[in-house]
Amino acid sequence: MGKQFAVAVPPQKWIKKGERVLMPNYARFPLVFTEGSGSILLSADNTPYLDFVSGIAVNSLGHCNKTLVNAICKQANTLLHISNLYYNIPQIELAEWLTEHSFADQAFFCNSGAEANEAAIKLARLFAKTINPQRFEIISAENSFHGRTLATLAATGQKKHQKGFEPLPKGFKHVPFDDAQAIEKAITPKTAAIFLEPIQGEGGVKIPKSNYLAEVRKLCDKNNLLLIFDEVQTGMGRTGTLFAYEQSGITPDIMTLAKGLGGGFPIGAMLATKKISTVFTPGKHASTFGGNPLACSAANAVTQQMTPVFLKRTQGAGQYLLKKLVLMQSQTGLIKEVRGAGLLVGIDLLVPALEVMKKAHNKGLLLSRTSENTLRMTPPLTVSRKEIDQAVSILKEVLGVKA
Ligand code: PLP
Repeated sequence: MGKQFAVAVPPQKWIKKGERVLMPNYARFPLVFTEGSGSILLSADNTPYLDFVSGIAVNSLGHCNKTLVNAICKQANTLLHISNLYYNIPQIELAEWLTEHSFADQAFFCNSGAEANEAAIKLARLFAKTINPQRFEIISAENSFHGRTLATLAATGQKKHQKGFEPLPKGFKHVPFDDAQAIEKAITPKTAAIFLEPIQGEGGVKIPKSNYLAEVRKLCDKNNLLLIFDEVQTGMGRTGTLFAYEQSGITPDIMTLAKGLGGGFPIGAMLATKKISTVFTPGKHASTFGGNPLACSAANAVTQQMTPVFLKRTQGAGQYLLKKLVLMQSQTGLIKEVRGAGLLVGIDLLVPALEVMKKAHNKGLLLSRTSENTLRMTPPLTVSRKEIDQAVSILKEVLGVKA
């Protein structure tokens, strides 16, 4: 790393240009990254940063993982794109792997998490109408996050993201997360599906009680409703199992994936049992780019790494990180709570998370936040214990914890 930019590039020049030509819908930090390797990102002025964001739970194999890069280059030299008017082999291979490793029988591919959720909403409505033509409503959770398209925004249980975009599509109800009774009360003859993140990611790494998802499954079975899990953030090993639902002992009817699926290459997927997916007949849904050979080859390279040994290692790394953070909590009055599943970790602070992030940046550590006071850590799943030690030690310094 660092060869391409042996002479540092002045970041201010690019930041100024960026401010001029990019829309102002992101609150970006004044950092310009030019290269990455493993858990390290290199900025334009040649400063290395330990990346505990990973493109928000995307770069699961770390930056520029050799196997992933080689698979992308090989496929780019062979076949980039054809239409879904035809079959392509990487797409079939990916669908085969995902269905062999999950509850699902069939897959639909798209390019992002929001698109995967849009597809899930459409499939659920279409299927529910075969049971009862009145059914279209979807119950989702308060504090949830499902995307920024209009329907996924309507499903999202956070008013702050919806403000200004009204009227939103109809047919979405929100109930408190981790409260099966609240779902039961909200069910009406119009209900089509329950739509949940098994662990709320953007909502602050909220892990529900161990029996919550099983209770929701029972409610769905009793009322003949579909259960949709949004595993855009939790899927593909992030929580220590291939999919977070595996830890609940139940299976959904529909599941969405994106983020870690392509390891940095944009791809989303919506998976379902065959009983449901058969209603997606030709013309009901489509995506020009969805499932193209390049994106699917990238995802196939990721899936090949997701072995039981790799997942066990992720679990071990997650437990190691969590243990260190719990210890840190006992050493400072600034941490209220630490939560984690695999390498998806939330830290509730008693001080503004943004200030902590900025100080961490100055010491070479990248972190994200989900709210005013909640930090999130989503390092690459390949992160080493030494890198975890480094990150924890920087956070300690920032929070003024004595070694
Ligand atoms: N669903 C969940 C659970 C997410 O965390 C996100 C993004 O953070 C999305 C959906 C939206 O994904 P995308 O930004 O790829 O559209």
